Amino acid sequence: MDFKGFTTKLVHADRLLNHPEDGAVHQPATKSVLFEYKRVEDLVDVFQGRNAGHAYSRQSSASINALQNMLTQMEEGVGALTFASGMAAITTTMLALFKHGDHLIFSQYLFGNTNSFANTLRGFGIEVTLVDTTKVANVTAAIQDNTRAVYLETIANPVTQVADLAAIGNLCEQRGLLYLVDNTMTPANLFDAKSVKASMLVGSLTKYIAGHGQILGGAVIDTGLFNWQAFPNINDSYKSQPAHLWGLLQIKKKGLRDMGGCLTPDAAHMISVGMETLALRMDKICKNALTLATYLASHAKVEKVYYPGLNDHPQHALANEFFTQYGGILSLDLKDGADCFAFLNDLKLVLNATHLGDTRTLAIPVAHTIYFEMGAEQRAKAGISDNMIRLSVGIEDIDDIIADFDQALDKL
Ligand code: PLP
Repeated sequence: MDFKGFTTKLVHADRLLNHPEDGAVHQPATKSVLFEYKRVEDLVDVFQGRNAGHAYSRQSSASINALQNMLTQMEEGVGALTFASGMAAITTTMLALFKHGDHLIFSQYLFGNTNSFANTLRGFGIEVTLVDTTKVANVTAAIQDNTRAVYLETIANPVTQVADLAAIGNLCEQRGLLYLVDNTMTPANLFDAKSVKASMLVGSLTKYIAGHGQILGGAVIDTGLFNWQAFPNINDSYKSQPAHLWGLLQIKKKGLRDMGGCLTPDAAHMISVGMETLALRMDKICKNALTLATYLASHAKVEKVYYPGLNDHPQHALANEFFTQYGGILSLDLKDGADCFAFLNDLKLVLNATHLGDTRTLAIPVAHTIYFEMGAEQRAKAGISDNMIRLSVGIEDIDDIIADFDQALDKL
């Protein structure tokens, strides 16, 4: 029977997709690093890609494959690879696919560490241009003969800009560019990546997917929409495999195998368990975030609230087009340069912590922390003010969340 529901598919994926041994309902964490073959010819076939078995757990194992299967199914893609963290997924994917002399177009609204990695790529001779991706025209204008890819986030951290996702997808398709989308903020139950023609989804499993702030992980998922035959950087030795698998194969060999940023079986197991409740958590988080954003936006001591669900958000129409709900991240500026540190120290329920997508509501002053190294000029370009506070809304009862902000704002 073909189950259609998002959560139905996830909670039965281990049992039906991976068929763990002994009728186990959950795919267990299989910890063996090595795999024995009675006939050495079978081991050789694994090394040479004729047999899908495991050789060494840096590249694959039953637990890792089970999570990769769930992710592939969730995005209706052709395959997935998992990594030790979201940053490992992003950096490994780029280092495996791009080379000296290539040009990449990145959104100027990116997670701070990804923005910092753009400089590392420049050091390797890979040119990176940062553009405002809320308008496709900026991306079009940045294309060069050696441009290989466009990379952006669906809803950007921390100012919540929404990229012109479908128009950029059409542009990438027309110009044969790889379209890499970080959908950490909007997992599959909020956003249909294939509808905007994303080639690959890259991002963090640590956040909403795992969901409970106790495990790191990252993934790249190939949607199957990109024509890898038109991509000049694929190593000839991978071209004996079907063309739709070339990209992932190169990332697996040149990236995961050679660079080694693999996920552990324990982490894969925990992430897949967390993922089962993704839609339930996300629904509560998004509803809480919209209610909190609406409350804060009308508060006399709040200057501005940045949340795509608010009518006055510059990309509210784009958010309505692409997402079923508006996500769990919002940012705010307090009025009259009020001291954001004093305000944050007065919060009792809300935690001062870096991280997002947790079950708990979290707050952080971004210019002093995640975006500190970026410097004032780059921060201004990304729309980040000096006293901006980013909130990651959790699943607590909304009355308790609002009561906490109410008492702390009262004290200002
Ligand atoms: N991408 C986005 C949009 C993020 O917000 C983050 C982390 O906050 C990452 C990637 C990196 O993920 P990880 O912390 O799992 O390395």
